[in-house]
Order: sequence, then structure tokens, then C-alpha cells
Amino acid sequence: MMKLNNTLKNILAIAMCLSLVAVSTFFYTPKASAESVDQLKEKYSSLEQKVSDSEKRISELEKEKAGQEKIIDALNQQLSQLSEQLENIQSQKQGVSAQIDEAEAKIADLNSQIDQLNADIEEKNQEIDATVQLFCQRMRANYMAGDTTILEMFTNSSNVANFLNRVELFKRVTQSDQKLVDDLNDEIASIEAMQKQLEESKTELQGQKVVLEGKKSDLQVVENELNSTQESIEAKSAEVEEKLKSINYETQELNVSVEEYNETMESLERQIQNAINNAKKASQNNSGSNSSSDKIINGNVSGGWMWPVPDSTSYVSSSYGYRSDPATGVTKYHSGLDITCSAAYGKPLVATRAGTVILTDYMSGGYGNYIMIDHGDGFVSLYGHCSSLAASYGQYVKQGQVIAYIGASGYATGPHVHFEIRYNGEKVNPYNYISKG
Ligand SMILES: [Zn+2]
Repeated sequence: MMKLNNTLKNILAIAMCLSLVAVSTFFYTPKASAESVDQLKEKYSSLEQKVSDSEKRISELEKEKAGQEKIIDALNQQLSQLSEQLENIQSQKQGVSAQIDEAEAKIADLNSQIDQLNADIEEKNQEIDATVQLFCQRMRANYMAGDTTILEMFTNSSNVANFLNRVELFKRVTQSDQKLVDDLNDEIASIEAMQKQLEESKTELQGQKVVLEGKKSDLQVVENELNSTQESIEAKSAEVEEKLKSINYETQELNVSVEEYNETMESLERQIQNAINNAKKASQNNSGSNSSSDKIINGNVSGGWMWPVPDSTSYVSSSYGYRSDPATGVTKYHSGLDITCSAAYGKPLVATRAGTVILTDYMSGGYGNYIMIDHGDGFVSLYGHCSSLAASYGQYVKQGQVIAYIGASGYATGPHVHFEIRYNGEKVNPYNYISKG
């Protein structure tokens, strides 16, 4: 054996120190990646916030949409009432128009009768003219015989009325001519009486037509009013439809964003997992640090997995899979089992299997205070909403070891543990592995 002198011992001590520095530098690397894990988690949290904001906005938009749809319904009801009223007015108008047409036809008929009577009068007048001419010829013959006074009177008469008056004076001159003229005169008078009667009927009909036209124009006014009301309702309807379109558009955009956020969050989760796995490899060297004070509870083990809540009153309050969100009522995927028990707050949670703590964290919007244990064969278990944690990052824990205490941190409606099992990064149904026993 070599005997070392003091100088050599000092050199060795320094060398060991240097190698410790080297080792601690080696261990620092995962810490650096742990910092980037923090950054990833920060990004994750901000996306969670964005998702929650978007969902809030979507639900606001849905309410707004329901309101606008109610307005549309009311407007449509008004429109159908209006179109009923319009139909009624239009049929009334049609009735009045038919009556006007009838009156016009009657008036036209009367006019043609009146025209006929005028023609009759004209004919009678011509007959009178012919009689007068004949009379004049006879008078001229008389003149040739010497009677001048009568001739002058007759040659100066320019119309029938004058003539008829004068004829009165000459009754005695020619009885037969007088008789003829009187008969014609009587006929003209009876024709004129008929004409007068027809004119009266025509006036009466025209009066009725005026009344009907007044009625028609009143109806037209009502129709115009109804039409303009209809137009304004239709304009309002179009406005609401436009609003609905923009609400639908915004909702669609938000849904697309939420989908994108969720995809990014999933990728971030994988990145976090990878960064943690890298960190874990280096920190496993620290895993022998279990102290003898670590509390182990003998719980229900089945198939190598222990039920994470050892309290005898424990029960599952929400299963894995799709469920109605207890806070919002919206159907969502639930990624684990919610387990609680009587007076759950502060009751211990145990490691379902032995493994290494690969993550202890706080997420305000989701898991709250949570811890993840890697069991080394692709399985990782997660315990969320804890009130406090009893194991730390990088620590190796035994099955049944108390790792945390039940709480309601993060997104939780009451004290419970949100328990997840992941296999190769995928969230799986814990019931496939654990049972309360
Ligand atoms: Zn849960």
C-alpha cells in the first residue's frame, strides 16, 4: 500500500472537489431543462386562460344568438299577420274594382243609348227640315200669287225652334203641315224625356263610381301602409339575420381557435413530459433519499396497483370518459377518476405503485396542486387538486407511501383527488388497472 503524504492528500481533496463540481454541473443540466419546463408550463397556463376566455365568449354569443332568434320569431309572426291583413285588403280592393268596372260598363251602355237617342233626334230634325222646306216651297208658290209678309218671316227663320214658334203663328196657314210638325215635335219631346232619364241614371252611376273610387283609394292607403310596415319589418329581419351571421362567424372562429389552443396544449404537454423524462434520468441518482419517516399505508392492492385513497369511506364521484362538467354543465372529456371520501380534505393520498416523482406543480386553472409518479414501465400516475404534497421532485416513492393530501386546489368543486393513469403519454381509463377491492 502506498502511503500518501499530506501534499498528495491535499491534491486528492482538491481533485475530488473538482469532480464534485463537475458532477454538480452535470446535475445542473436537468435543472436548466426544468426551467424550460416552467416556461412550457407558463405557456400552457396562458393557453388554458385563452381557452377559458374563448369558451366564456362562446357561451355569451350563444345567449346573444338565442335573443336574436327570439326577435326573428317575433318579426316573422308580425310578417305573417301583416300578409294576412294585406290579403284581406287586396281582396276588398278587388271587389271594389269589380264594382267600378260594372258601373263603367253601365255608363258606357248609357252613353251608347244616349248617342242613339241623339241620332234619333237628329233624324227627326231632318224630317222637320224637310217638312219646312216643303212648306216653304208652297209658301213661295203663294208668294208668286202675291202674299209677301209670310214669305219674309219664313225665309229669315234660321233654326227649328224659331221656326216652331213662328209656325204657331201660322197654324191657320196650313193645317196638315202643322199636324206633321206637331207630331215630330212630340216625338222629339219624348226622346228628350228618355234622354233626360238616361242622363239622370248616368249621373247617379257616376256618383256611385266616385264613391267606389274613394273607397278604393282608402283601401290603397291602407295597403300602402301595410306594405311599408312589411318593408320595415323585413329590413329589421335582414338586420337581425346579419347579426346572427356575424355571431355564427365569431363562434366558428372561436371554436377553431379553441381547437388550435387545445392542440398546442397537447403538444406542450408532450414537450413537458419529454423535458421531465430527461430530467428524471439525471435525478434518479438522488432517488435513494427515502427517509425512514416516509409513511407507508397498507392499502387495497389489486393486479399490482393500490387504490390511491386509503380512507375506508372512499368512493368515485366522477368516472373517466365523457361527462357533464359539474361547473358549467357542458359535456367534456374527463381524463381520470375523481375519488373522494367523508371529511376528505387533508386525508392522505398514496402512491398507487412504486416509482419516481417526475413532476410536482401547481396549475391554477386545472389540476391545482398535483404530483406525477413515473412507474418505470411506461406507466405514470397523476394526483390532482391536492391540499399539500408529501413527496418531492425526483424522489423515489414506494407503493402505499403517502405522497400528498386531498384538497380542492385548481379547478375543483369540492375536495377530491383527480387520479389519472397514463400509458406512454396517453391518458387511459384507471379502472382498467385499479379497483377499490
Ligand atoms: Zn377530475
